[in-house]
Amino acid sequence: MEAVITLLPGDGIGPEVTAAARKVLETVAIRSGHTLTFHEALIGGAAIDATGDPLPAATLAHCGNSDAVFLGAVGGPKWSDPNAPVRPEQGLLKLRSELGVFANLRPVRVYKQLADASPLKADRLQGVDLLVVRELTGGIYFGDKTRDADSASDLCVYHTYEIERVVRFAAGLARDRKRRLCSVDKANVLETSRLWRDVTNRVLSEEFADVELETLLVDAAAMHLLSRPSSFDVMVTENMFGDILTDEASMLAGSMGMLPSASLGETACGLYEPIHGSAPDIAGKGMANPCGAIASAALLLRHSLGLEADASDIEAAIAAAIAAGARTADIATSGDQCLSTTAMTDAIISRLG
Ligand code: NAD
Repeated sequence: MEAVITLLPGDGIGPEVTAAARKVLETVAIRSGHTLTFHEALIGGAAIDATGDPLPAATLAHCGNSDAVFLGAVGGPKWSDPNAPVRPEQGLLKLRSELGVFANLRPVRVYKQLADASPLKADRLQGVDLLVVRELTGGIYFGDKTRDADSASDLCVYHTYEIERVVRFAAGLARDRKRRLCSVDKANVLETSRLWRDVTNRVLSEEFADVELETLLVDAAAMHLLSRPSSFDVMVTENMFGDILTDEASMLAGSMGMLPSASLGETACGLYEPIHGSAPDIAGKGMANPCGAIASAALLLRHSLGLEADASDIEAAIAAAIAAGARTADIATSGDQCLSTTAMTDAIISRLG
């Protein structure tokens, strides 16, 4: 297999976890005889500093010529001035939109050895294996924004086709799992949510009669995620609700640093990134947990390059390292020896076989 991968390390801990993911991909490539060519490009605050633009044209061109794109994280206090003309996050939103990646897959896997790292009781975590599908290119993050002296507004717009395609995507994934789909909205208050619910009900009844549909209001879903997390199979929801619910769900896994994501659209070129941000509080200290980034690299091999066996091997190596007691500070409990980002990466690589 030959493939070109664009790496966008970004800001804060982004470069640290991107280096970890790259090292794992290079190891797998050597082991399995693949030729992976990497191009690094600028995004976010690093790109603003260098060019004034959070998504320079050169970066977009690299991504357009790639089989897959891997992103670390963007943002940080240096670029957080609300009056700044551009912000790092604009680069990421534009990239998602330009790549047309409308479905953001966020699998939540709980390792039983990390039960103590989660604030939930261990018995609540048994059997948790859920997949959140977040709509990624519509909704309030992309609507028109206005601001005057004493008011502000963010427009939330959804079109039928945007809901149909992401619900179809999620229901298709549910069909290959436990055939249960939970759609999350706020239909008691929001018109966009009422459209979301109507479209979801229609798509499921017309095309996925074999998939059981549950609908929840987002506030109730936030509660049920903690009270009965193992009852969920696939959840599908709009952009902002998915953003918030998956940060909450990360605590089932023990840390933001554990969760990967894959953003997919009509083409094979996906965008892969850990769900966490740039973590300015630990950036540059070698403390970042690379598991979410490395698991995102596994998703890249699976979804964009079709290398299922290599992807499964990486996931098994992460599980084996955790089972053997390898811990970064965020998932350590008292008495555990804390590994640096590079030592944790090496602990995973050494179990790749
Ligand atoms: P964050 O995810 O960066 O950090 C939240 C907490 O989780 C922090 O305590 C951090 O130390 C910890 N954490 C996150 N990732 C970790 C890892 N891999 N290992 C160990 N601990 C980890 O969220 P935040 O603090 O709200 O945001 C910081 C910046 O990141 C902001 O500028 C925000 O806009 C940006 N952000 C970017 C993305 C992205 O690039 N996709 C996502 C979310 C936030």
